[in-house]
Amino acid sequence: MPVVVNPATEETIVELDDAGVAEADAAVARAKAAFSAWRAVAPSDRARLIRRLATLVEEHADELARIESENVGKPIGGARAEVAMVAEVFHFYAGAVDKHHGQTIPVAGGVDLTFREPLGVVGLIVPWNFPLNISSWKLGPALACGNTVVLKPAELTPLSALRLAELVLDAGIPEGVVNVVVGPGRVVGQRLVEHPDVAKIGFTGSTEVGRGVMQGAAGTIKRVTLELGGKSANVVFADADLERAAASAPYAVFDNAGQDCCARSRILVERPAYDRFVELLVDATSKVKVGDPRNEQTEMGPLISAQHRETVASFVDGEPIFRGEAPNGRGYWFPCTLVEASNQDRVAREEVFGPVAAVIQFTGEEEAVRIANDTPYGLSGSIWTENGARALRVARALETGVLSINSNSSVRPSTPFGGAKQSGFGRELGMQALDGYSDVKNVFIAT
Ligand code: NAD
Repeated sequence: MPVVVNPATEETIVELDDAGVAEADAAVARAKAAFSAWRAVAPSDRARLIRRLATLVEEHADELARIESENVGKPIGGARAEVAMVAEVFHFYAGAVDKHHGQTIPVAGGVDLTFREPLGVVGLIVPWNFPLNISSWKLGPALACGNTVVLKPAELTPLSALRLAELVLDAGIPEGVVNVVVGPGRVVGQRLVEHPDVAKIGFTGSTEVGRGVMQGAAGTIKRVTLELGGKSANVVFADADLERAAASAPYAVFDNAGQDCCARSRILVERPAYDRFVELLVDATSKVKVGDPRNEQTEMGPLISAQHRETVASFVDGEPIFRGEAPNGRGYWFPCTLVEASNQDRVAREEVFGPVAAVIQFTGEEEAVRIANDTPYGLSGSIWTENGARALRVARALETGVLSINSNSSVRPSTPFGGAKQSGFGRELGMQALDGYSDVKNVFIAT
């Protein structure tokens, strides 16, 4: 029986029954049975239902934020912002329902039409770091395209998805269209990946598990999109606005206690600016408010589990440049930590998924690009420079799916998000996500 724990207090929130293969199969059967009616719902009505869900999320924002904050240990302010994004995502895809459509293509001898067809039952597998957000990134386009869904949240953080499933019904979306199954990844997740009636897996999680998902999906030639790990670079050139870059850098790593696939956890600094930048960075990092997630002022909460804290701790050996404060006692706390590193060090090569940033020096643009790209990952990243031509040159050269220039923010409902290299493939958010939840059917009519 999975025990759902508050990572800030180590107290049990609830114990849930563990689903297994039988429950996964039953959920797939319900989704399959609901498919033909759901795909036949008029686009304007489907849009209205998704929009109603968005509105219900807004009306229950405080409750959902509280659930997410307690279950993940997220600061309540951040959790509220995430719930606001969830509503925005559903609004976006409600608006997208009748704007993602086929074409007529000029051909000889007739008329050629393309249709956008839903795939059928899609399995959505979600990690524990942004449970509700990432669920909405998948649910929004899946529903907009007319698919039915089996959603599997992470074992550690199922509560917001379960509440969302109730709101889905309250919105008037028919029973069976969205099914949530809470159970172990290697049982329920694996079953969805291999199930012959599941047409596609939208997976977000680690690169290691993603590799297995891809292999498991091969048996039924299932479509997969994989949103995997990252080791993103925050590249600061000497001509940057160092004050702004340094003020922003801590939040690009320590947000969500570093448990963020987009974390710019390699901070690359051009040598002439290194000392000044590190001084500013240490100052900014020392101001990150770590503590009780219920406190409105808190900016960073605990890690998700004791086991994960051990893993994070294993990345820090030797004396860091800076180690912040974190509460003692109950809760899986870990302080903001800055370490000086070379790009060959383990802390710079592997995803820490905790509040540890590697600060790395470089000389010149070419070396910056080489170091930034010297990783198997390619999810996000930032470039800080006042030289516009260089910003664009480096942006084109970096092997990554998402980038920001003079900013560390990269996720918006209307813009595509996803990885390059071993950070995965397929795009979430934006109109692009709809391509991943539909197939193109081509019809030629002889005239
Ligand atoms: P994880 O890979 O351990 O688990 C992710 C999900 O997969 C969970 O629901 C889990 O139960 C399920 N799962 C586990 N084994 C499975 C199997 N054999 N078959 C099918 N499903 C299985 O990841 P996590 O620890 O929950 O999350 C952290 C990871 O997620 C990090 O690597 C992070 O970078 C990544 N992530 C990526 C993005 C992105 O958009 N690229 C976003 C958030 C998190």
